[in-house]
Amino acid sequence: MAPIKLAIVGVGKIVRDQHLPSIAKNADFELVATASRHGTVDGTPAYETIAAMLAAHPEIDAVSLCMPPQFRYEAALEALTAGKHVFLEKPPGATISEVEDLKRLAGSKGLSLFASWHSRYAPAVEMAKSYLAASAMKSMTVTWKEDVRHWHPGQAWIWEPGGLGVFDPGINALSIVTHILPKPVFLTEAELEFPENRAAPIAASLTFSNSDKLPVKAVFDWRQTGKQSWDIEAETAAGKMRLADGGARLFIDDALAFEAPEEEYPNLYRRFAEIIGAGISDADIAPLTHVADAFMLGRRKIVETFQD
Ligand code: NAP
Repeated sequence: MAPIKLAIVGVGKIVRDQHLPSIAKNADFELVATASRHGTVDGTPAYETIAAMLAAHPEIDAVSLCMPPQFRYEAALEALTAGKHVFLEKPPGATISEVEDLKRLAGSKGLSLFASWHSRYAPAVEMAKSYLAASAMKSMTVTWKEDVRHWHPGQAWIWEPGGLGVFDPGINALSIVTHILPKPVFLTEAELEFPENRAAPIAASLTFSNSDKLPVKAVFDWRQTGKQSWDIEAETAAGKMRLADGGARLFIDDALAFEAPEEEYPNLYRRFAEIIGAGISDADIAPLTHVADAFMLGRRKIVETFQD
């Protein structure tokens, strides 16, 4: 089969770190153009706008939209209207209703829409899901603590409305939790800490439950220096599970049960090719729904100013 002719929109950090190497290794895709106001990829035709790129390259089959979430809907609308399949970086949009609108549009045109949740493709996630499916759960605790200055230096958009603040990494945890829990949960309580000078939270603590009254706690914090924590722990009737390092390793009763090399973005592109081939979409909005609930239900606390 001929490769899927792909274009990238929004050439920045995640494109360079992950998309380009993953696309280069995947024979199902051929990168034919980029659209970005400043960013370019050596050897690939570059345009400043998606409109100019689509006009110059009618052969494009699919686009990966990698700009910040606040600017994704307009680009997705242009791409779907032009008949292209769409890969949305996470989070898939700035609101739930705009993503629902894209799902409806993609469905009406028979195009594939992919809301990519890269953390779901971390190596030990499927094993954690199987473990939880086989043993009665008693509780879950999520700890996602990292240093924003290290991971997001100078990213102004992340502190703006729709940038999600600490939920930008926190939604990765929620994407795993919503995938591995045998039964959905809903938010019952939250506290969001907003720096006095920022429009998005720097920390959040969340409490979830479900119809079995399963206690699920999550703590997200961007002020962590030193050791970074991306852990999901569960107490079950069979023992204690810890999905560590963002899903890279699984521990059962403190003993390493599984680890494998990281393949998140290669797996995302395999899945994108698969859904295009099958003529379906894959656009789960559960992680984004929990974030929206946190902004709706969460008590807001103003904390000290944050300077990059
Ligand atoms: P980034 O480098 O700050 O932004 C990506 C590119 O988007 C920028 O280089 C910029 O390119 C374009 N852009 C920025 N503001 C824009 C605007 N107002 N309108 C249109 N385009 C704009 O961010 P990133 O770290 O790559 O993150 C992008 C997305 O990927 C986010 O949703 C993030 O959550 C997700 N993601 C990031 C990481 C990570 O480690 N960084 C990991 C996984 C997922 P031009 O100036 O050339 O237009």
